[in-house]
Amino acid sequence: MTNLNPFKIAQRQLDEAAEKLQLDIAAHSLLREPLREYVFTFPVRMDDGFVKVFKGYRVQYNDARGPCKGGIRFHPDETIDTVRALAAWMTWKCAMVDIPLGGGKGGVTCDPRLLSESELERLARGYMRSANRFISDDIDVPAPDVFTTPQIMAWMMDEYEVIRGRHQPGIITGKPLELGGSAGRGDATARGGIFTVREASKMLDINLKGATAAVQGHGNVGQFAHQLAIDLLGMKVVAVSDVKGGIYNPDGLDFEETLAHRLETGYVVNMKGTRSISNKELLEMDVDVLFPSALENMITEKNADNIKAKIVAELANGPTTPEADNILYEKGIYVIPDFLCNAGGVTVSYFEQVQNSYGYYWTSEVVHQRLDEKMTKAYRSVHEMGQKHKIHNRLAAYMVAVSRVAEAMKLRGWV
Ligand code: NAD
Repeated sequence: MTNLNPFKIAQRQLDEAAEKLQLDIAAHSLLREPLREYVFTFPVRMDDGFVKVFKGYRVQYNDARGPCKGGIRFHPDETIDTVRALAAWMTWKCAMVDIPLGGGKGGVTCDPRLLSESELERLARGYMRSANRFISDDIDVPAPDVFTTPQIMAWMMDEYEVIRGRHQPGIITGKPLELGGSAGRGDATARGGIFTVREASKMLDINLKGATAAVQGHGNVGQFAHQLAIDLLGMKVVAVSDVKGGIYNPDGLDFEETLAHRLETGYVVNMKGTRSISNKELLEMDVDVLFPSALENMITEKNADNIKAKIVAELANGPTTPEADNILYEKGIYVIPDFLCNAGGVTVSYFEQVQNSYGYYWTSEVVHQRLDEKMTKAYRSVHEMGQKHKIHNRLAAYMVAVSRVAEAMKLRGWV
């Protein structure tokens, strides 16, 4: 790819869908840019008594369908363009699963790994002191993302409530359960993806019972993909990996045993009764379902031709480059694109907002069932769009999502 600016990539993806949808020029132009963006500078006192100054961002990309929604990242490489791109993708993701929310994203350029716990708390509170004036449960609702946690959400919520002088837990999601978080948020991303794989297998007439899977990445998302592929689909997970490499057992890797080994040693490699494999081998394994659950740009034009899985379920964001997408499509590999496959997380975040608004909380069974309904419906709308236009699923997903946002703008009289 010649231009790796993430916002330019997001615009390029939109352009392709807009052309296929024959979107009118005003709607297309409005959707190419964020509606509002805030960049602010704020001071944080460090443990040594000196004050450090940080740059914070919040982008409200589009709120035609409802208040903006999207995480806050604390990352050294954060820029206004990464935040813009992620806010655009949140707009499409919320429309994809048809929840009444728009897209937003926030961030701070910082390295949280270099901060003490109390510095991190003052950074989180400082962010909210600056951002509170344009955040509210009916305007824009943040959530955790890279290097931000439920504890950081709790500090931000507290700061907001201190400023406003009243309880308002719905201004942020991903909170600890004790402060109004939702049951079922922990594994929601993987669980939502598993539901889409189940639906895809019906369309493709693949029997998943005893079928094989490989999971790349064994973190928040990948570990639950390992567990739920076994528990919900009856699959045999024959390979998993992390940043240090992978392990393989043709008879399947027991989830509890793998987790215990990883928690004890820090990584999945060298588990008893397994063979070590590289991440390259894992990606190119002859399995029924491949779950990329690590980082972006893992399947590229260099290795796409070697992928053998029947279904690629993208739990990670952006694991497949646009060039690789076309190669996989030509090879007949069925890709469940990221902003459909991993939309379970934002769906349960939305459930959290709903529960906060009426102060009554659902059981995990209720959360799972409502998540299943949302994911199944979203999957079917993408599959149908793909079949109708004979296009790959990513473009189909864009077309479904973009047309929903465009329709809301039209009904409001914006375009
Ligand atoms: P995480 O940091 O908890 O886990 C990432 C895993 O990937 C770790 O096991 C790490 O060792 C592994 N990894 C890193 N580099 C690797 C490499 N080169 N090869 C193989 N494995 C490698 O992160 P996470 O929260 O699980 O997120 C994973 C992906 O899912 C990201 O793309 C993220 O944006 C996306 N995602 C996460 C959520 C969520 O709810 N956490 C929601 C939507 C999308």
